[in-house]
Amino acid sequence: MLVPFVCPVCRGALRASPQALRCSRCGPSPVLAGVPVLVPEPATYCATHRDALLAALAEVDAADSSTRNTLDAFARAVPSSAPALFGDDWTPEEREGAPPPPFVDGPAAALVEQLAALEEESSPRRWLLERVPRSGLVVEVGCGAGLLTAQLCAPERQVVATDLSLRAVLLATRRAKGSVGAVVDAHALPFKQAAAVVCENVVDLLERPAAFFESARRVTKRLLVSTVEPSLGSGAGDVVVALAEAAGFRLVDAADGLPWLRRNSARFVELYGASAYQFE
Ligand SMILES: [Zn+2]
Repeated sequence: MLVPFVCPVCRGALRASPQALRCSRCGPSPVLAGVPVLVPEPATYCATHRDALLAALAEVDAADSSTRNTLDAFARAVPSSAPALFGDDWTPEEREGAPPPPFVDGPAAALVEQLAALEEESSPRRWLLERVPRSGLVVEVGCGAGLLTAQLCAPERQVVATDLSLRAVLLATRRAKGSVGAVVDAHALPFKQAAAVVCENVVDLLERPAAFFESARRVTKRLLVSTVEPSLGSGAGDVVVALAEAAGFRLVDAADGLPWLRRNSARFVELYGASAYQFE
């Protein structure tokens, strides 16, 4: 099945050309190692992330000369810009898909195991997964290392793993067999229509969350969101619901205090109480 990508700027149709997707109004977007880079300003993205993109491509043996040429053709269109890294945030075990390290032996170890069992039953990820439609196009915004992506994949679903980081998209699509990847800006989702948009623990990190909700509304009738910061940094009330409703969504279901454990090392565990929402 072909993913119905559209232009992230004008939402017009895209036509495939060698190593690029082209909008007749806005111009071309690069395709790097099979991953379309569908952000509003692809040349700026390539110029500022050039080194990070090359490193991510090299990690999957895809920094061949034709891919480098494509990247440089876009990067050269922008005179000079300060290099930026990807904001990837995952533990070594998340990256490898390995089990987390057991907590250091002592009085707290049993409690961490209890919390892990509780998380298994009622994590925000599980809550979201239970509400994803059985079939159709499912867009994951902010796929990170792809742990959710792998669980989204199902025979009747077409899963698109998206992130602003090419490294994340490459990792997630390799982990989640059958998924397709795209580099996207969450504020300008390049999809015509999706059965659902799923956004796990990302909305609080966005610069302009209102733009994300508006963009999601143009793409889907079902939005599934979790966050550990429902006030979105404002410190006041539930801004997620307010912004989603302002964008035209209706709150269908919600849960709060869902346990999310971040097991960073054998001596460092973070416990978050997440909120999760289903909007339609
Ligand atoms: Zn366009």
